[in-house]
Amino acid sequence: MQVDIQELAKGLGLGLDILGCIQCGKCTGGCPVSLTTALNVRLLVYEALVDEMPDPKGMEELWDCTSCFTCVERCPKDVRPAEIILSLRSQLVESGRIPAPIGDALMGIFRQGNPLGLAREDRAAWTEGLDIKSARDGCELLWFVGCIPSYDVRAQAVAQAAARVFKAAGLDFGILGTEETCCGNEVRRVGEMGLFEMLVEEGKALLEGLGIPRMVTTSPHCYNTFKNEYGLEGIEVMHYTQLLAPLIEEGKLTFSGRVEKTVTYHDPCFLGKQNKIFDQPRAILQAIPGVKFVEMDRIRERSLCCEGGGGRMWFEGTNTEERLAFLRVHEAADTGADVLAVACPFCMAMLEDAVKVQGLEEQLKVMDILELVAEAL
Ligand code: SF4
Ligand code: SF4
Repeated sequence: MQVDIQELAKGLGLGLDILGCIQCGKCTGGCPVSLTTALNVRLLVYEALVDEMPDPKGMEELWDCTSCFTCVERCPKDVRPAEIILSLRSQLVESGRIPAPIGDALMGIFRQGNPLGLAREDRAAWTEGLDIKSARDGCELLWFVGCIPSYDVRAQAVAQAAARVFKAAGLDFGILGTEETCCGNEVRRVGEMGLFEMLVEEGKALLEGLGIPRMVTTSPHCYNTFKNEYGLEGIEVMHYTQLLAPLIEEGKLTFSGRVEKTVTYHDPCFLGKQNKIFDQPRAILQAIPGVKFVEMDRIRERSLCCEGGGGRMWFEGTNTEERLAFLRVHEAADTGADVLAVACPFCMAMLEDAVKVQGLEEQLKVMDILELVAEAL
């Protein structure tokens, strides 16, 4: 079956314009998984250009894409090459050809509102004893906690640190508790456009209906989709690093402790490359008394993807030997840092696992910026 990819992309709301492609190859050249897998995004654009739209059936490597958007960042012609992968994935999803773990994550989101498939009524269990207000009782700031910080034991510690930090900053915040549901950022990136549209429709009605003018997210993934894809009206969306950096600068969030550690920072793709939030995380870390901040070589736009986005949290990919996260933790350790700071629950999971697999546990600890801030309060 001949498929017009441009038409298909348009129908799915994707910003793909392959006609501008000059086949320079910068997309594939920048793609962090192209060296270790069969994924070649330039070739996919070429095939679509010459009207030989590839049949995605059997193209297992399409699931290797992490949605890091390095190719989008580097393309000189604004083609947005990663969108072709989303189009092809959506064809696979339509025909039911999807890796089982990604299918399970989607089913969990459909049934329970989270990719882990855990009970919807347990979503706020992590708040026990913390005295966190429900947004329904009225507040100035809605905190969208996110699925992983709500359910994953390691990430729950980050959510608990966030609650302490927000309270210390005197913020009047509330959460949605069991009413909160997956934002759908990853749903769109694995190509399940129907479920994504459903989440947007329901989420938009819920969030706008609250009438709370500001919303902060723990995860850059939630931030990205709320900010860029929901079309929320009357709500300012922020990642927590954007919220905290000015509060520290204005003296509204102060420290009485110290963190005597050498810290480096890994830019999450959905915060850095895709939304250009590079300075605020660094400003927060540098403001913590005692922290010695050091940079890795690949930072900001050039930061190496942790390989956790685009459904890769659930699907290992076709090359399980040469993980980007393995490389990244060595880059971090080489700076002499004791702590690899992150600002994303996916980065936390991927990099912490890599530290264990690479035997760096004695040397390097992965911590969210929120945990370092909480430690210095
Ligand atoms: S970087 Fe852009 S213009 Fe260059 S080959 Fe890739 S899609 Fe085409
Ligand atoms: S989004 Fe990232 S992983 Fe996917 S094709 Fe582009 S550069 Fe490669």
